[in-house]
Amino acid sequence: MEAAVRNQDADKTLRRYEHLYIGGEWVSPLDGGSIESIDPATGRPWAVVPMAGVNDIDRAVAAAKDAFRGPWRRMPGHERAALLRRFADLFRDATPELAILEARDCGGVIRDLRASISAQAQYYQWFASLADKAQGRTIPIDDSMHAFTTLEPIGVVGAITPWNVPLFTTCVKIGPALAAGCTVVLKPSEHTSVTALELARLAHEAGFPPGVFNVVPGFGHNAGAHLVQHPDVSRITFTGEGGTAKKMLYGGIETLKRFSFELGGKAPHIIFADADIEQALNAATAMAWRNCGQSCALGSRVLVERPIYDRIVEMFQARARTVRVGMPLDEMTRMGPQANEAQLRKTLSYVEIGKGEGAALVTGGRRIETPELANGYFVEPTVFAGVNNQMRIAREEIFGPVASLIPFEGEEEAISIANDTPFGLTAGLWTRDVGRALRVSQRIEAGMVWVNTYNATRWSAPYGGFKASGWDREMGIDALAPFLDTRTTMVSTTGQFPNLYAS
Ligand code: NAD
Repeated sequence: MEAAVRNQDADKTLRRYEHLYIGGEWVSPLDGGSIESIDPATGRPWAVVPMAGVNDIDRAVAAAKDAFRGPWRRMPGHERAALLRRFADLFRDATPELAILEARDCGGVIRDLRASISAQAQYYQWFASLADKAQGRTIPIDDSMHAFTTLEPIGVVGAITPWNVPLFTTCVKIGPALAAGCTVVLKPSEHTSVTALELARLAHEAGFPPGVFNVVPGFGHNAGAHLVQHPDVSRITFTGEGGTAKKMLYGGIETLKRFSFELGGKAPHIIFADADIEQALNAATAMAWRNCGQSCALGSRVLVERPIYDRIVEMFQARARTVRVGMPLDEMTRMGPQANEAQLRKTLSYVEIGKGEGAALVTGGRRIETPELANGYFVEPTVFAGVNNQMRIAREEIFGPVASLIPFEGEEEAISIANDTPFGLTAGLWTRDVGRALRVSQRIEAGMVWVNTYNATRWSAPYGGFKASGWDREMGIDALAPFLDTRTTMVSTTGQFPNLYAS
């Protein structure tokens, strides 16, 4: 595989997947449809995946329901854990190949993907360790009544994932869902379904009972919407756009669907004048351009204290010139393309919006049209200065490599600008003053706040959003909760029940 794709641009062989993974078997889609997956670095199809329609979703949900009612729910937690560990080991061994496939499917840079994907094996190990930890409580009442809770898996979970970091967003959904004892129907993004099908292959090899994990690539408006509406699906866990989440809420009304959402951000990355400027700059530039700006956690609003503002603008401009944009599979590449053409257009349109709003385009903002990159969806690392927080480029999620540099004066204004956003997923701040770090971090409305670092995540640390950035937490022990129901049992120690109608 590696040799075959080393020259990504010259590789014109199509990778073909013909079968959905349902009920432990590889099956043809009932209507025989397929989806071409475009390599965003070349603009050409590189893989073909099967396309599930509504009947396939019905089949997958039925298989997941049977598996839930059958072996999976009854399996002791430590046995589920053993299966998840076997899966984690297989996943670890497959890391080099998965990284290449993901690079081709979504344009992520091979160096970053290798690190991120090998870490995911640890995430799966952590989730495995939770499989026998769903413990209830005893509730003190009085001598006549004994009360306790038991936690039950909620049933079939529909996991709907985006295209920006497909394997990671899948990992933090299916890991806790399976650990909790739920069964899963995974509908990956229509743009990036290849690695989801590879996960099915690994799950099969790991020996999960048939129907515990099902993979059904398809389009959102069709397969995705049907999964949301399905009466036998207990919860949808979704990462993607807020507008899509709202459609899902409508789609889930009839069945009173439960949802877990991870819906993007517009994170403030705050640099105080007393910060270690070099470190802050390393983080702020990386977190503006990493994954070509296509991550909800990134710090796209860079808030800089006034005394160092001009210096930081210059440093950003100089750093942008050093970013090696190129083919994702090239080991030297540090920034790849946008994951699809629509996203490229969206980013370029925001560059025009920013200019129209009066922000100063310091560098970048154009599609890259050098001969080797011209067919792909490459865009320059981009910096806007003179941004105020009311501009659309500061308020809306662009999902491109666009940093908006916003000046501020002092702590109060930093906090006020940081929180003046509908989003609340992540935030970062740089200061050498410990008191300030604590004061500011605890007033920021975000589910994850980084101090003198950025984008540090761990399987054991809960992750998720305040406000419009989402519902529920992924990772950490908290990740189990959405997939469990609490049953309270009350036992009378006397067995006496009075006759209310005796007199
Ligand atoms: P999206 O939200 O439309 O799609 C994400 C997933 O939802 C895909 O699997 C898609 O098939 C599915 N989907 C779409 N419509 C659906 C529906 N009605 N019912 C059920 N499932 C449905 O996101 P997108 O079109 O891939 O990207 C649009 C924008 O979303 C991007 O430009 C970016 O700003 C944002 N985005 C955010 C994240 C994030 O991590 N927060 C990830 C990807 C995209």
